[in-house]
Amino acid sequence: MKIHEYQAKEILRQYGVPTPRGSACFSVDEAENAARNLGGAVWVVKAQIHAGGRGKGGGVKVARSLQEVCDHAGNILGMQLITHQTGAEGQKVRRLLIEEGAAIAKEYYVGMVIDRSKQRVVLMASSEGGMEIEEVAKHTPEKIHKVWINPASGLTDAEADTVARQIGIPDAALTDARACLQGLYRAFVEKDAMLAEINPLVLTADQRVVALDAKINFDSNALFRHPEVVALRDLDEEDPAEIEASKFDLSYISLDGDIGCLVNGAGLAMATMDIIKLYGGMPANFLDVGGGASKEKVTEAFKLMLKNPRLRAILVNIFGGIMKCDVIAEGVVAAAREVHLKAPLVVRLEGTNVDLGKRILAESGLPIISASNMADAAEKVVAAAKGA
Ligand code: GDP
Ligand code: MN
Repeated sequence: MKIHEYQAKEILRQYGVPTPRGSACFSVDEAENAARNLGGAVWVVKAQIHAGGRGKGGGVKVARSLQEVCDHAGNILGMQLITHQTGAEGQKVRRLLIEEGAAIAKEYYVGMVIDRSKQRVVLMASSEGGMEIEEVAKHTPEKIHKVWINPASGLTDAEADTVARQIGIPDAALTDARACLQGLYRAFVEKDAMLAEINPLVLTADQRVVALDAKINFDSNALFRHPEVVALRDLDEEDPAEIEASKFDLSYISLDGDIGCLVNGAGLAMATMDIIKLYGGMPANFLDVGGGASKEKVTEAFKLMLKNPRLRAILVNIFGGIMKCDVIAEGVVAAAREVHLKAPLVVRLEGTNVDLGKRILAESGLPIISASNMADAAEKVVAAAKGA
């Protein structure tokens, strides 16, 4: 689960990470009031969307008067902000963060993710702040310093200081840097994050270290123990189809192809998308209906896929293990009838009661294309999507 920058900064503040003062705003009037209350002579107007690269896309502006705050706020609110993370259609800006401006002397990068191979949280830090870390990793990997943090000791003072020196933070600011790095780590662990990033972490003209940007992604599997995190969810930033899917406990991810996939089991769903691509098609979604899918769940899954205007064909790929093929076949037939399915539907069934399942499909009178194995299914659905 993702949250906004201003929300991530509120969390980091609770863990002692220095951040600029600021507040979230939903209108130009609120933005002006916020700037007036902050005081000072320089403010930053920042678009709040669940994507990075806002600066380059025109979503982060420095203002040197209240009038400029209003002008920038007016321009950014409601804009369709396009960044390398939003896709070509961009994301509509509905919230702003108005912050006191910082006098930046130097920008750094610090971030944490879980390194599964090492079974530890890894801290990554670089002198190359404000840039995309992927680019730094590609061109100058020696400029990324890593610490694999021992969960028993946490990030020690010595480790924090060493990495801070490695990225060029001056000695006068090491105490601040330590607060940032250790606070980030504690927030990461206690909030069950999957990614926590400060880019840029900055050294100010007066030698303080401050988190100028913040991003935290949470592990959805751990949200049950963080109601305070769930409360930060912004549904405007999420895919409507994925929100709908979560209501029915379906694992659904929108993709940009035209072949809908309905599969039981995440592994089989991955394999199904792979084989569709192998045969020259593009999946419209990932959809795992789970092991115990009921007829109702299958119907909801069909409805979801059909909401996608790009959909050209559907592949149902089911392995009947605990779930029996005849139950799935009945679900598919009922769902196809209920939603008046027009798109070509290819079904591949295998496993328990497969013969009975195939007979139910054949006798349904629906124009279902039956496939004998995964390759056959992929070939048929790709042909169907291409209008063959
Ligand atoms: P992102 O582009 O979505 O990652 O948004 P950031 O919050 O990282 O902002 C982009 C850039 O705006 C930063 O790298 C800074 O260079 C600049 N910026 C942000 N806040 C300030 C500020 O208070 N003062 C100045 N001078 N620049 C800022
Ligand atoms: Mn940033």
